[in-house]
Amino acid sequence: MADRVNRLPFFYGNIAREEAEGYLQQMGSGAYLLRQSRNHLGGFALSVLHSGRCYHYTIERESDETYAIDGGKSHSSPMELIDYHSQEMDGLVCRLLKPCNRPKNMQPKVGPFEDLKEKLIQEYVKQTWNLQGTALEQAIISQRPHLEHLIATTAHERMPWFHGKITREDSEPRLQNGPRTNGKFLIRQRDVNGSYALCLIHEGQVMHYRIDQDRAGKFCIPDGKMFDTLWQLVEHYSYKPDGLLQVLTEPCPRPDGDTDVLGQSLLPRDTPRFGSLFQNAAGGFFARIKIGPTLGRQKSCGSRHNTPDKFNPYEMGSNGEVTRESLPMDTPVYDRTYADPDELRNSTVYREQLILEDEELGSGNFGTVSKGIYKTKLTVQQVAVKILKNDDDSPSMREEMLREANVMQQLDNPYIVRMIGICEAESLMLVMELAELGPLHKFLQKNKQTSIANITELVHQVSMGMKYLEEHNFVHRDLAARNVLLVTQHYAKISDFGLSKAVADDQNYYKAKRHGKWPVKWYAPECINYFKFSTKSDVWSFGVFMWEAYSYGEKPYKGMKGNMVLQMIESGMRMDAPPDCPEEMYGLMKTCWIYEVEKRPAFAVIEPRLRQYYYDIAQ
Ligand code: AMP
Repeated sequence: MADRVNRLPFFYGNIAREEAEGYLQQMGSGAYLLRQSRNHLGGFALSVLHSGRCYHYTIERESDETYAIDGGKSHSSPMELIDYHSQEMDGLVCRLLKPCNRPKNMQPKVGPFEDLKEKLIQEYVKQTWNLQGTALEQAIISQRPHLEHLIATTAHERMPWFHGKITREDSEPRLQNGPRTNGKFLIRQRDVNGSYALCLIHEGQVMHYRIDQDRAGKFCIPDGKMFDTLWQLVEHYSYKPDGLLQVLTEPCPRPDGDTDVLGQSLLPRDTPRFGSLFQNAAGGFFARIKIGPTLGRQKSCGSRHNTPDKFNPYEMGSNGEVTRESLPMDTPVYDRTYADPDELRNSTVYREQLILEDEELGSGNFGTVSKGIYKTKLTVQQVAVKILKNDDDSPSMREEMLREANVMQQLDNPYIVRMIGICEAESLMLVMELAELGPLHKFLQKNKQTSIANITELVHQVSMGMKYLEEHNFVHRDLAARNVLLVTQHYAKISDFGLSKAVADDQNYYKAKRHGKWPVKWYAPECINYFKFSTKSDVWSFGVFMWEAYSYGEKPYKGMKGNMVLQMIESGMRMDAPPDCPEEMYGLMKTCWIYEVEKRPAFAVIEPRLRQYYYDIAQ
């Protein structure tokens, strides 16, 4: 959404109300412009000129990802809201008649927080999960909406003006120490749940204003405006007193002298006033976030519906802490850099290192997959163990399993099930990372309340894993919802490399010698007709996988035989969109099902498209 709004010529970004009035006053009645809300995350403000006076309306983003002026009709986007009010006054002072476009060469103004955000996110992921390199980059790509929310709701902890849990009595000497500049301020956390206080100097005296937090986590000074975050509240009162005796001018530094771990480069360049409030931001405070015990993140989402639902993974704990549920990076199977180095060097698992549990996770061509525990000198880890059927210890099955192990050994990506090693004992065993929630289609069949945003998050992760395979010249050849396993409700991994092949750099496809036991409903026409497999045929399968995901685990081409499916494809027909599937996602599926291999998009194209759509609906 942010991208689409940014392209509107009458969107000014993060400008103050007074600046908006300056632009509008040069126009006639009915002129309007849009700007970013300074108190509601993801919200906007609509400023309108009528009979020489400016009126400002807050457009709030609602929990179901719609936009509305307080008490007004909901719209799917700010653009739709503006179109509507260009026809109907419906509570506004007048109809919106003429957009007041930005002066030539002016870009929408980026808020100071936007400037900080990128660096804060990097630093946050680095510090919290000890990640670096590709693992860090992939964490940010797949979890950006959650990370942005985390940063927004916890960034105050890095600000020099945030003094944590101190008493009123403690706060006063801190403010009175040094020059008693009017407007010098700090924020402290009160003992009362979720409540804070703004303490500021006014004519030598320390004034204390209570900041309440409502059940939804919004902040306000009693009778004042509501803000999504404390830093937005500080920003607002640094521009105008709005009921306080004094605007906020200068942050009172913490006595511990915390310095800015992120460096001075974080200071916003064009916002000197705000910059002073943000400089010297201290690090290391993020640890206060608690990770909730449950795996499911969206609790309150209703039934399935067409509009993607927003999910809020953050809740206020009983003692005012922000609690959140697990992100992929919280799980032990996100990054293998921190595994026991012995394990990484050696793909042999000794039988004495392995305890097999009775619990069977599933079964496949080779035999069964059981839960187990794998111990090294440094680590104890839950694992999944694929056990070759003893009665099938035929050389060909053995070889196939070893081939699968050989492929898996070469792959290392957070969205792909990693092999830990091979164990030769009573049977040949392939030891893998455990994805406890099992295959995606079964999960979705049982959990029909899963939101479209959640499904898109998982589908996007699979596209990241597939992009990795594409970059490393592997074809999977069996991509389907049954082979996408869930670690948590918000973390998917691609599995089952039994049919996978490495393809040569110069010849970008694998040619099978003969037809095999193939999942033909997932296969592109060139696989069936010419036995040719490439990452583009994986793209076709990815389209079918998407269809399965958005249809909550339905069988594709239900009731049809393989040859009928091929006839249908050859005649140009494709599966219909699943009932709840967003139009954009069905559009993407259909491009995966383009008959001509060269015209089909690569994962390098699909992944960013999914990423953008996911960010749009998850924010
Ligand atoms: P496969 O032979 O690879 O198709 O695996 C058969 C079934 O075993 C799958 O459908 C899953 O239910 C289960 N399974 C396989 N690998 C894992 C894993 N790494 N973690 C959890 N379950 C697994």
